[in-house]
Amino acid sequence: MGVKPVVCIVGRPNVGKSTLFNRLVGSRLAIVQDEPGVTRDRLYGAGDWDGLEFVLVDTGGLTPSIDATLARSILAQARVGIEEADAILFVLDVREGITGEDRDVAALLRQSGKPVLLAANKADGPAAALGASEFYELGLGEVHALSAQHGRNVGELLDDLTAVLRARAAGVEPEDDQSEEAIRVALVGRPNAGKSSLVNQLVKEERMLVDDAPGTTRDPVDSPWEAAGQRFVLVDTAGMRRKRSIALDMEKLAVLKAMRALERTDVACLVLDAGETPSDQDARIAGLAAQNGRAMLLLVNKMDLVPEGSQRWKEQRQAIAERLRFVSWAPVVPVSARSGYGLGALPKALLEAHGQWDRRLSTAVVNRFLEDVVSAHHPAAHQGREVKLYYASQVSSRPPTFVFSVNNPEALQESSRRYLANRLREAFGFEGTPIRLVFRRRRRRGDSEP
Ligand code: GDP
Ligand code: GDP
Repeated sequence: MGVKPVVCIVGRPNVGKSTLFNRLVGSRLAIVQDEPGVTRDRLYGAGDWDGLEFVLVDTGGLTPSIDATLARSILAQARVGIEEADAILFVLDVREGITGEDRDVAALLRQSGKPVLLAANKADGPAAALGASEFYELGLGEVHALSAQHGRNVGELLDDLTAVLRARAAGVEPEDDQSEEAIRVALVGRPNAGKSSLVNQLVKEERMLVDDAPGTTRDPVDSPWEAAGQRFVLVDTAGMRRKRSIALDMEKLAVLKAMRALERTDVACLVLDAGETPSDQDARIAGLAAQNGRAMLLLVNKMDLVPEGSQRWKEQRQAIAERLRFVSWAPVVPVSARSGYGLGALPKALLEAHGQWDRRLSTAVVNRFLEDVVSAHHPAAHQGREVKLYYASQVSSRPPTFVFSVNNPEALQESSRRYLANRLREAFGFEGTPIRLVFRRRRRRGDSEP
């Protein structure tokens, strides 16, 4: 599956970043919108233009306005853009011209080597557009005078953006065959859950931590790891270290990092802290992993602090079961990076989840299942229309995906769909992987027209 390029919008407050974001994302807002347990915000969106899909991030939403000077928080956003983005949209306000903050951001962007498109916003009419030429002085190439609010010249910006993204994609080296066979495992989760500690412990080699000078960045690191006769690649999404004084919303950033890593992951390990109740961000990341069709384990780390027999652990398990109930298929694996507890069992858990994710049932087996299910429980008729399930097959794996032929799919109620999914899991397990059920219309002679 293709990796969607990420486009980050940076700029001072009030220049029109969120207006531009909304215009580019349009009505298809929200990558995570239908996932139960996942709240949506206006930080991430899906855009497409000229057949190219991309993920849009409004970095303005990453900075809580408290406890940072304005200039610092704008620069912090720009650094996120530089680290995470395939292209950066730098938004300026033609009515205000260039400010000192704009110059600082421009300097960072010039150094980064990432493609930057300069959006001179609020050029609502020809007169205002004239002011945009001032921005050439920033040394970032072409200036796109546009109006996010009125949509003026936004199409031209998108033309250039997609051209830049396509050129970048064409330059990307294909992965070598070696890494094809290895199982890719991403450790995702909130800051301080212990992702880096786990990777370090597993590969038994302290990777050098970058110093935490502001602006120090590090890409997610791929660590080869061999265990139980299998080659893995561990992807640590903790990556960046920053001084606390920079007011970036690290929790939201964790979601962005997870999103990127999940695109090319086989098994996602959501790392939870045994001492903390799962948060909205945890639920969000779990939802993203499920939606991306990744296998998943819930690694509950820091078990050295919460003994497995304790009341605390009982409560924690309960909290996980409730808060993350929409991924109840994901096994809970208690571990401790510090003491090494549970890590011996991890390769087997990864292999099992991967095996289920990769599993394929024969059509004969699936149809026998369907016969049994239908004879035990006829799908409820909806508004007087009878629902008939004719046959089913597993059309793909990674994750397992089933297609059911139905006389009228619209009439199949949510409860019946869930019933089928639950019965599939009862019959075949699929522990550690999401499964997908698709219902296709099929008419048979003698069926009445809907
Ligand atoms: P952000 O803080 O950078 O996300 O800025 P917003 O998107 O919230 O916009 C700040 C203000 O500028 C709002 O009042 C918008 O309505 C206004 N604005 C945004 N784009 C345009 C534009 O193209 N023309 C004009 N005249 N106003 C705009
Ligand atoms: P990351 O942000 O998810 O990569 O988290 P880190 O690996 O940087 O760990 C965050 C903090 O938790 C550090 O102070 C670690 O020493 C601590 N930590 C990590 N794993 C464990 C563990 O198993 N037990 C305990 N007690 N502390 C841990």
